Amino acid sequence: AKHQGKGRFRVYTCAMDQRGAEQARVAADLRTALDTGQLHLVYQPIVDITDGSLHGVEALVRWDHPERGPVPPAEFIPAAERTGLIVPLGGWILAEACAQAVRWQRRLGAAAPETVSVNVSARQLREAGFADDVAAVLHRTGLPARHLTVEVTETAVFDGGAAVDALRALKDLGVAVALDDFGTGHSSLGLLRTCPVDLLKVDKSFVDTVTHGGEHAVIAAALIDISNGLHLRAVAEGVETAEQAAELRRLGYRYAQGYHYARPLPPDAVTALQTPAPAA
Ligand code: C2E
Ligand code: CA
Ligand code: CA
Ligand code: CA
Repeated sequence: AKHQGKGRFRVYTCAMDQRGAEQARVAADLRTALDTGQLHLVYQPIVDITDGSLHGVEALVRWDHPERGPVPPAEFIPAAERTGLIVPLGGWILAEACAQAVRWQRRLGAAAPETVSVNVSARQLREAGFADDVAAVLHRTGLPARHLTVEVTETAVFDGGAAVDALRALKDLGVAVALDDFGTGHSSLGLLRTCPVDLLKVDKSFVDTVTHGGEHAVIAAALIDISNGLHLRAVAEGVETAEQAAELRRLGYRYAQGYHYARPLPPDAVTALQTPAPAA
């Protein structure tokens, strides 16, 4: 049995090395991508489902690889996190999203998205001076802090420490903090007492079953009660059908995001959404 164990261990190590090597390759490619403009951001509308108006947008990064074509973020963000490249990459994403938010404000005025959400990884949040870097980007782009939301996952903040300090510093700046994929982490509810949070993004997995009746909607229903009780906003993520949308409205959700409302869009398509069609 011991022998077998050893063998398994060797196989495991080898697989890990291969994965490490693959991630290093992806990260090197990604560095080039960042330097040569292969990356861009798309923006998914966050809708006020009480009246159908646009509330905000979430910035999502896209990579058009010259040979491989579009590479999904689920394939390269983990590699960027492992190698530390997420720090410069995330800095670029934040600056790009803030600059775009200012362009919308100039172009659309009051019809501009009220908030632009940017995903921030654990590694970025723990980087010394992260909140100062955010303040510098806001200053440089001219975006008022109240128009920026930072999305972090529960796992990024669950052990407290530097990450929570960073969130506090962001709140002091006036930036809103959202807990992403809420309900899927290890200590969701406890975090609400220790973390300075403004908004819960209720994970798609709870939205998927909301129309299945009976106990399937219990968690989505409980999460809206918790967020109301704590005076937090809640956004339902990954809404794909009119039935889900109707059920979420019935449960008292005000904000939602998902293919039912809109896919992630290039910046001009968001502008077009908010620009009244010229009279014929
Ligand atoms: P996330 O932050 O939870 O983002 C939501 C993901 O769900 C996006 O996938 C979005 O396109 C997708 N989505 C939205 N509505 C629907 C729907 O109705 N149905 C389905 N099936 N999917 C929907 P995407 O863009 O592929 O991003 C995947 C993940 O990669 C994100 O999950 C986030 O964790 C990460 N990511 C994306 N962009 C960034 C970024 O700029 N920085 C960082 N650090 N991570 C990012
Ligand atoms: Ca997110
Ligand atoms: Ca999410
Ligand atoms: Ca997710």
